[in-house]
Amino acid sequence: MRAQVNALSRQIPVLYMLLLANAVALAYTHYGVAPDWMTIYAVVILGAICIVRAIAWSRARVDLDNVDACIKHLKRIRVLAIAVAVLFTAWAITMFGYGDAYQQGHVAYFISITVVGCIFCLVNFPPAALLVVVIVLGTFVLFFGFSGNEVYVAIAVNMALVSVMIVQIIRSFYANFAGLIDTQHDLEAQHKTTIELSRQNEALALIDPLTGLSNRRAFFAKLDETVAQTNKGDRFAVAMIDLDGFKPVNDVHGHPAGDELLMQAGERLRAVLGSDTLLARLGGDEFGIILRPYEDAMELIELGTKLCQALNRPFVLSGGTVQVSASLGLATYPIVARSSNGLFERADFALYHAKKNCPGEAVLFAAHHETLIRHDSQIEQALRKADLSTELSLHYQPVFDIETGLVNSVEALARWDNVQMGRISPGTFFPVAEKTGQVGFLTRVLFEKLLVDMASWGNEVPVSFNLSARDIVLSDTVEWLIDEIKDHGIDPKRLTFEVTETAFLRDFAAARTSIRYLREHGARIALDDFGIGYSSLRYVHELEFDVLKVDRSFVTPLANNKRSRRIVKTVIDMCINLGIDCVLEGVETDTQRDTIIGLGGRLMQGYYFARPSRVPAMDALTETFQS
Ligand code: C2E
Ligand code: CA
Ligand code: CA
Repeated sequence: MRAQVNALSRQIPVLYMLLLANAVALAYTHYGVAPDWMTIYAVVILGAICIVRAIAWSRARVDLDNVDACIKHLKRIRVLAIAVAVLFTAWAITMFGYGDAYQQGHVAYFISITVVGCIFCLVNFPPAALLVVVIVLGTFVLFFGFSGNEVYVAIAVNMALVSVMIVQIIRSFYANFAGLIDTQHDLEAQHKTTIELSRQNEALALIDPLTGLSNRRAFFAKLDETVAQTNKGDRFAVAMIDLDGFKPVNDVHGHPAGDELLMQAGERLRAVLGSDTLLARLGGDEFGIILRPYEDAMELIELGTKLCQALNRPFVLSGGTVQVSASLGLATYPIVARSSNGLFERADFALYHAKKNCPGEAVLFAAHHETLIRHDSQIEQALRKADLSTELSLHYQPVFDIETGLVNSVEALARWDNVQMGRISPGTFFPVAEKTGQVGFLTRVLFEKLLVDMASWGNEVPVSFNLSARDIVLSDTVEWLIDEIKDHGIDPKRLTFEVTETAFLRDFAAARTSIRYLREHGARIALDDFGIGYSSLRYVHELEFDVLKVDRSFVTPLANNKRSRRIVKTVIDMCINLGIDCVLEGVETDTQRDTIIGLGGRLMQGYYFARPSRVPAMDALTETFQS
């Protein structure tokens, strides 16, 4: 119907103009022959009607979306078609009564040619076109058929045949027209479906399927957009959250439990933030938030703390209850950075800082972090440029056995003396090397040096060597270590590899495989910095360590803290029960030493006994470990 109305609006003005032109032509040939009221007044009135209607039609604007309006419009066209057909036919037939044969011939010609023209104009609307055919040609055929004149009878017969053909043509044209419109309609519908599908696709590409939150892509798109749209003087902040202890949940309870935890974590964050804030899962157990607007730094820290606390509460999963914690890093626009990259990097650094120094808390990126970042990147640069095989060296710190009064073993500790930066502590450059992936190279250089040193000592002192988290999850590094030991003709039993819990947090299965491999080849494994990580007992239970090294943070307060005395006592007893060694690190005073002895501890390491040095206290060693 819409298509019909549309086509007719263009064709009906043409129809009126055609009627007008032909009527004027007929009136002209009959002027003076027919009465004036027919050739002048009637034509003026009919012509005026035609012009007025033609103008009205070309101005008319039908609301095509309104079906009722379209129906009303088409009904009106039908009524008008009848009126116009009747009026003009009556006028023309009356004209026939005047004039000679030529002029009568003109009337016949006028009627036939006009009706064909009008039918073409109405061809999109068969009811109206057929009405015109019936009224005009019907009257014409009857009138001429009964005129008694042979020529007119022949014309009537001829016109009757033409009418039948015209009706046929109208029908087939209309069928084509309707088919075309249907196809067009289908195409439009298909187009709409395609648009809708691509819209859905786009939405899906921006959503994290597990949590239903925005994904990494959406986060960065929104961050770019926010940076671009934020005016001078306006502020917003980027927050990054990372779960501490998520990996063990995955390992112990399985991946479905990990998924469940992430979903619940997302819900908790959403509950604190409300629905307007962009919250995205950036991957793994990391979330990103765009916070706007905020009052001051205090408000941000408070919100950050609230978010961390929300994730601290135990999670009830289908397989049991678990607890994790979360650290959060914040960076503010425009104070800290003005670009989306800068903001993200700084929020990430604040998070890294939080995890390292105050896990479970929210840290706002501050000016002094900038120095740290610069310092880190300086170290990274220096590591790249340095000739590490000459700048790195190993110092050795003995572990004493209180019961025998002799050296139990020595721990190899890396030292880096850089031409530009001077001596850099391993506690500073190892984390950077871990982050940038340079640590594997450091390990190889240091281990080569260790084996050379060991061969040169001429005794059998056991040595422990620290491995980074990254080393222990890479099977080729571990295989390389064993090959090197064999190549240097060193007994693997002399070696203990110290690993920390961060390695298991990274990839438990790979770490376990590496540890087994090293043990199978005769080396021993120590769990370093025991007590400052997560779910430590599980690792002790599953990983068959040979040594447990209790972190200095438990030893330092021993003298005046009952709690730490109890903890240390428990750990010492546990090691005795498991039949493994227990080394207490960082013993600095005789009080600490005596307290440890009182608690049943035997192996100790610390400045009280000896500082790390290039050449281990060889005299003492040679006595003990004469080869
Ligand atoms: P760590 O493995 O826990 O090593 C013990 C650290 O405590 C050493 O610091 C040692 O010098 C220090 N220390 C020993 N006794 C005392 C004491 O009585 N008081 C105090 N305050 N500190 C004491 P260092 O040499 O600076 O090493 C720091 C950390 O760097 C190490 O902690 C270890 O995690 C890492 N590291 C050192 N060498 C290597 C290495 O060759 N490879 C890897 N992957 N990491 C290493
Ligand atoms: Ca160590
Ligand atoms: Ca340690």
